Amino acid sequence: MKVAVLGAGVVGSATAYMLAKDGHGVTIVDRCDKPGMETSFANGGLMTPSDSSPWNSPGTVQRLWKMLFDSNSTLKINPSAVPSIVGWGLKFLANSTYERHKANMIANIRIASLSLQTLRNIRETSALDYDQTTRGTMRVFPRGGRMAEFVQMCREMQEWGVNFEVLDQGQILEKEPCLKDVIDRYVGAVFFPDDESGDAHKFTNEMARLATSLGAQFMMNTSVLEIVKGSSSRISHVRTSKGDIHADAYVLSLGSYSPILARPLGINLPIIPVKGYSVTLPLNGWNGGPTRPVMDDGYHAMMVPMGDRLRMGGKAEFARYNTHTDAKEGRRVLNDILKILPAMVSHVDIEAALNWSGLRPMTPGGPPLVGPTPYSNLFLNTGHGPLGWTMSCGSAKLAADFVTHGRVLNNRVNPRDYAL
Ligand SMILES: Cc1cc2nc3c(=O)[nH]c(=O)nc-3n(C[C@H](O)[C@H](O)[C@H](O)COP(=O)(O)OP(=O)(O)OC[C@H]3O[C@@H](n4cnc5c(N)ncnc54)[C@H](O)[C@@H]3O)c2cc1C
Repeated sequence: MKVAVLGAGVVGSATAYMLAKDGHGVTIVDRCDKPGMETSFANGGLMTPSDSSPWNSPGTVQRLWKMLFDSNSTLKINPSAVPSIVGWGLKFLANSTYERHKANMIANIRIASLSLQTLRNIRETSALDYDQTTRGTMRVFPRGGRMAEFVQMCREMQEWGVNFEVLDQGQILEKEPCLKDVIDRYVGAVFFPDDESGDAHKFTNEMARLATSLGAQFMMNTSVLEIVKGSSSRISHVRTSKGDIHADAYVLSLGSYSPILARPLGINLPIIPVKGYSVTLPLNGWNGGPTRPVMDDGYHAMMVPMGDRLRMGGKAEFARYNTHTDAKEGRRVLNDILKILPAMVSHVDIEAALNWSGLRPMTPGGPPLVGPTPYSNLFLNTGHGPLGWTMSCGSAKLAADFVTHGRVLNNRVNPRDYAL
């Protein structure tokens, strides 16, 4: 079958690979000059099924209220974005009941775990280089923080296969001696042995390389202008800046831009862009930082070693499609990390930090949209929010199952959890 994948982010590129592996002739279209240049470019790099709890856990209304009036908050709503998020926001709140949140968390865990397993299978047969770490991740909790509540949530996740260990101060230092200057700040940590990390941009290009080796064709610098309806609920072709593309099936993986192309077809995708920032610091050989990703639950800050670089990030901002990179936000992220790793300042050129921002394609519940649409030859693989890199290989496998077999194979997940 001839399949066109729209979007060469981490999700689209992994989908192209899975489809090519299933024997399809794949064309993948993207407006950028290389795969993975938008949201998949410099994200947090965490491959973390342990992060499967959606953002709207019970008590969200009270927390949101507090955050909105806190100038140091990691959440910001730009007034111009308010009209565009009201409907989505109500659905987001409706998903914050205990039952809905738990169901969404389980759906996220299932797809994230499938993803990790799929990634490990790919690594067994193909050498991949994307600055990966496979040493787990660690979340450290300041005194007076929410460690007890978090551990309770980990127990619930453990029932669904997410392993964790609770660490005391000594065990934190055994794993990450770099925290010695600030260890008294922490009451403990939770360690997730199965989590991994890596550079999502490099990984996207590794997927593109593998897909190309199986015959997939990447059409870069090509904008998708319209998905054109044919007769009898089918897509006839896709109109692009470089001419029309005709295929037997189409997969929509345009990240935050998916709703824009789907709307004229009468498909309203509940996805909005939520901006986030990252900062990447070249370490130039300094090895005094963490050896695995460390998240500080107090500062809502993370530091992720990536080869000879340290990736840091945080913040969620509702600002529509604005991707302006605010150096002040980058500095704020960096300042929080310097409180955790004060030694870094005398070894590394802080001014060499690279600021970046990207748009998380967020659904109101949390799980992505993967599977059929009202058009028999149009499939979704989009809306992965803060977990698109984590879920990329798993959701690519599911999307390929739908295209190839019309259903999910081997009861890997419950397809209803990801349905439109
Ligand atoms: C600050 C930040 C930190 C994050 N950290 C993590 C993390 O640690 N772990 C994790 O799992 N996830 C993380 N995420 C989320 C993750 O990055 C996203 O979920 C993921 O990158 C989405 O991938 P995608 O392929 O769906 O979208 P994208 O990467 O945005 O890909 C969509 C592609 O579509 C193309 N496109 C769009 N419109 C058109 C058009 N009209 N024509 C042609 N091409 C078009 C774009 O060029 C782009 O390449 C983070 C996100 C942010 C912003």
